[in-house]
Amino acid sequence: MTSDDELLAIQANIERTRFNLESVRIRDDVNGIWYSRSPSAKDFDTVVTAMKTAEWAAKDLGIQTPEVKWFLESDSELFEPSLVQRFGKAFHRGPGLVGAVDVGNVIWLHAGLTPRQAVDVAAHECKHLASGGDEDAAFDYGKLAQLRLWGPLEAVGGSAAVWLTQGREVIREKTSGF
Ligand SMILES: [Zn+2]
Repeated sequence: MTSDDELLAIQANIERTRFNLESVRIRDDVNGIWYSRSPSAKDFDTVVTAMKTAEWAAKDLGIQTPEVKWFLESDSELFEPSLVQRFGKAFHRGPGLVGAVDVGNVIWLHAGLTPRQAVDVAAHECKHLASGGDEDAAFDYGKLAQLRLWGPLEAVGGSAAVWLTQGREVIREKTSGF
């Protein structure tokens, strides 16, 4: 191992520990907050990467491609009040939630995720659908999927670059008639 590799391994362990502590905190928080369904993510690229990642991960894990639903904190400033009225309050959980699984082969993702974060969280939740509540396994799967499908940095690479180009092409075609 080079020292760079060692540093990366230590960093990954710290991040995983922090994540696990966060999960415990969320589970133990009896004073959770309300979340509402959002019709979409804030950023169209987030929708594209989440749906394509869900497709990819489902195939990889041997499960049916899940339905992707979006949510926001019910009192979020990103939310128009009329939407909360329309969709109501969907579920009550600890604050800071970025993703969840639901019965009926559904994954819920936070509507404010960046496209790159959506790859991690969508893969993470698919892993939960495939193999249950093991947080370490889901954490590793999400991070690895992000590395494989997007690359190590914010600059988009890999399969995600193709998906985003295709997604934008579809939008251009749909809007060019107006
Ligand atoms: Zn999880």
